[in-house]
Order: sequence, then structure tokens, then C-alpha cells
Amino acid sequence: MIIVMKPNATPNQISQVLQRIEESGFRAHISRGEERTIIGVIGDERHLDPDQWNVLEGVERTMRVLRPYKLASREFHQENTVIEVGDVRIGGDQIAIMAGPCSVESREQILETARAVKEAGAVILRGGAFKPRTSPYSFQGLGEEGLKLLAEAREETGLLVVTEVMSPDQVPLVAHYADILQIGARNMQNYPLLRAVGEVDKPVLLKRGMSSTIEELLLAAEYILSRGNYNVMLCERGIRTFERATRNTFDINAIPVLKELTHLPVIADPSHGVGLWQHVIPVARGAIAAGADGLLIEVHPDPAKAWSDGAQSLTPENFARLVAEVRRVAEAVGRSVAEPTDAQTATVAA
Ligand code: PEP
Ligand code: MN
Repeated sequence: MIIVMKPNATPNQISQVLQRIEESGFRAHISRGEERTIIGVIGDERHLDPDQWNVLEGVERTMRVLRPYKLASREFHQENTVIEVGDVRIGGDQIAIMAGPCSVESREQILETARAVKEAGAVILRGGAFKPRTSPYSFQGLGEEGLKLLAEAREETGLLVVTEVMSPDQVPLVAHYADILQIGARNMQNYPLLRAVGEVDKPVLLKRGMSSTIEELLLAAEYILSRGNYNVMLCERGIRTFERATRNTFDINAIPVLKELTHLPVIADPSHGVGLWQHVIPVARGAIAAGADGLLIEVHPDPAKAWSDGAQSLTPENFARLVAEVRRVAEAVGRSVAEPTDAQTATVAA
């Protein structure tokens, strides 16, 4: 159930409602919008009678939320959630570009890629240190050494770092080094992991499972939100279909559908979405035209020699082309691409 407070509800009236919720054995989640405060009542709703709540002072109305996810829904939070990471804002007017290699391979590789993607206009560096590989014999990532190299690249370039965390016990370690925690497609329904990232103070980039519905993605986000971490961005990265000409089928429909159903930012990953580098730029343009708030792009200095996902990785030159083209599409749909912030520029000048 959602309780919508009147625009002029006093802090005291709000705390009375919160107290009543707790006393009734439910949990309250507050969303303070520009106009009014909305309170989510979390728990088994079957025994809740909206009329009992409508009479409380300051309450405008109560609504049952029919969707199985609540905190992630637009009903609960009408305005778009804007996630602030360092000086970068994700989910606002500007499009945030995250780029880097699939895996961190060496100091030279990550530093060279970081410099190149920054030069082209990325504001966040991606790179896997813990890799969820389909085969146990494939490269599994450099582990903590990879995290240290990402931190070094951040130090040098000022780029923020997004990297994957694969299990609950890794969360403290990855959160120590990363600015954004990535949950990979294969772990979208790893509930202990979702709960664990719900309890840390770092934004989460949650990737859609390769055979998951949009509703399942939103329910996975709900696990994180319901633990108190509201800084969740959703990532469309392609789903598995009967089509074999591409690695996955980038579900462009998911972008406007998610923007309608949820207030959370939506990021597009056309690299995994199509799986072939020559198609990444057009799919990225399409994702921005469809309303995505950001892009996650795989870039490698020498894709032919990449230890993972070389076939879908762009060279730095092609990545620069992608950014230039995406800027034009962003402009056409009334948005712009986030430029490196003052802090990031200062890091390079220093
Ligand atoms: C990745 O980002 O490199 C990755 C492993 O992605 P996904 O979880 O979407 O397959
Ligand atoms: Mn990859």
C-alpha cells in the first residue's frame, strides 16, 4: 500500500503515520518528492484496510499497489530517480557513458583504455575483475589485483569505476574499490547477493538476466531497494531468443517500458546486446533515441587480443565515433551527453 501525504502535511503528521506503520508490524519507506511525500507500506498487505489510514491527519489518499514490486514502481516515486556518483548524475537530463574492457587484463591495458575512453567522452570506467564466465576453463578475471588496477586508473583519470561483484562475500571487497557495483546477468536472481548489495552505500547497476522478463528484473531491483539501497540502475543487455545471427537480442522495447513502469535510471549495454562490434554503434544510437539514461560499452585497445568479449569490443577510434554519433542523437531527443566533470578534468591536468 502507498500513502500519499497532502502537499502541506507537517513533519509531525508524517512521523505519526510512520509510527502507526511500525506499530502495525509493517516497514515504511519514505519518498520525499518536490511536491509531496509518499510513504510505502511494506509487508503482507492482505490485512490492511486503506480506510483506517485515510482518516489520519495529513493523509490525502491511500492506494493499494497492484504490481508485485512497489518501491521500484512509478506509483511510489513519480519523479525520475537521479543517482549521484561523485560529480556524475545518472538518470537526469544527461546521458552517462560508461566504457572500458570486458575484463581487466593488465596495468597497461586498463590504463591505456581508461585514458582513451576518457578522451572520447566517457565519465565512468568499466572493467571486470571477477568474471562470470560460462565455461570454468575461460579466464576468470584478475580478482583483487584487477580491482587495484581499476582504482589506479581512477586515480589517474578521475573516471569513476563500475565493476562486477559475483557473490555476497565479495561485496565488502568490491565496494571498497568500486564506485558502482555491477550485478551481472547471470546473477540477476541471486537473492543473497541482491540482499547484500542492498545493504551497502554504493549505487548498483543491475543487469537483466538473459532469460528474464521485465517484471523479474523489477522484482530483482525490489530486493535491493527493500534493503534500503535506493540507488539502483537497471541495464538492458540483450535477451536470449531464437535468433542466432547475433549473440543476444537487444530488447529495445524494454527501455520505454521500464521508463513507464519505474523511476529508476535505465542503462543500455549494446555490446552484450548484439555481441558484434560492427553493430554496436547503431544499437547504441537506437537505445538513446528510445530513452536510455546511459550506455555501457566494451572498448579494448586491441580487440583481437582481448581475453574476453573481443568480438563485441570497440577500438578506441570506433568508441570515439560512437560518442560523437550518440551526442547527435541525444540532441535530437532533447538531451545531452554528460561531459567529464571539473573534478575529472582537474585530475588529468594535475
Ligand atoms: C560484462 O559486463 O562483461 C558481463 C559479463 O555482462 P553480462 O552479465 O550482461 O553478461
Ligand atoms: Mn563482457
